[in-house]
Amino acid sequence: MRALVMESFRGPLEVRLVPDPVCPDGGVVVAVEACGVCRSDHHAWVGSDPDATLPHVMGHEFAGRVLEVGTGVRAVSVGDRVTAPFVLGCGTCQDCRRNEPTICNHQAVMGFTGWGAFAERMAIPFADFNLVRLPDSLDFATAAGMGCRVTTAFRALVDRGRVAAGEWVSIHGCGGVGLSAIMIAAALGARVLAVDVRPQALALARALGANACLDARDYPDAVALGEAIRAATDGGSDVALDALGVTATFHASLYGLRKLGRQVQIGMPVGPHVAPPIPLLDLIYARQLSLHGTRGMGASRFGALFAMLEAGRLDPSKLVAKTIALSEVEAALRAMDSPEAQAEAGVTVVTRFDS
Ligand SMILES: [Zn+2]
Ligand SMILES: [Zn+2]
Repeated sequence: MRALVMESFRGPLEVRLVPDPVCPDGGVVVAVEACGVCRSDHHAWVGSDPDATLPHVMGHEFAGRVLEVGTGVRAVSVGDRVTAPFVLGCGTCQDCRRNEPTICNHQAVMGFTGWGAFAERMAIPFADFNLVRLPDSLDFATAAGMGCRVTTAFRALVDRGRVAAGEWVSIHGCGGVGLSAIMIAAALGARVLAVDVRPQALALARALGANACLDARDYPDAVALGEAIRAATDGGSDVALDALGVTATFHASLYGLRKLGRQVQIGMPVGPHVAPPIPLLDLIYARQLSLHGTRGMGASRFGALFAMLEAGRLDPSKLVAKTIALSEVEAALRAMDSPEAQAEAGVTVVTRFDS
């Protein structure tokens, strides 16, 4: 099969013939029809993700068809249209049995701990537990574009932030996951304030349902930006999502919360951002804030998300800005080197795997 192979961090990515994946017992091999390009791929490509070892094939936001079924698989058949969360649970440990596979101690992470979906084929372990059948109404590119972002945003807002209708939600960083969160928060009946440093991202945020937008470049620091957020949201947001994971967005999201506000950390901090100072007295203690981490979403929660789509409350096809070939992934990743320089707003999805 063809796959996009990484031989060195930050190095060129080459479309190359590699051996087909072997179908595991209890797992499947899928023919990949679409795969999203994500900021987490950029982390792997630059060598910031400790799980990725060379040579490597990235890609963790796939949609495709089941091509081969291993022994013991009952829930899916050859030809089924499927996706899977990027965190693949073992299905049998205590956390998986409680439907919390994103904290499974035995998890495989697609495109990180093993080879991913920037390839014509990919193996998925523990298929009965991890695979999700796609609704017929959902095309492959849109399903892949939803990828880790829409699912991550859904869990962050619904399961971790417990957002209620009428609440203010501030979303810091309007990349793929931030824009997904804006759409879902609006669909939940929340009022949304979007923060970014790119006017075109803020314009897309508004088009997807943000009620208010702030350009972080207009404020000297996170405290001043936080004050502006509190002024724009009747005293502060009830829930804040840091959808980027850098110290500036983490602090701004905390400073913009009202008393008893809930902060949900979506963006994965890397490099100098892994241990930012936390204003414990002024914010966490005095304003009684709470902090929640979140990562991915388990297969069992896709049903609730698809129900929102099928009810017409959410249209993730609006997120897909561009479809590309495998050979264009490297350029898409280089464009992510600095968030400010990223010209494109919206999600890029690989739909051509023959070049
Ligand atoms: Zn992703
Ligand atoms: Zn498990």
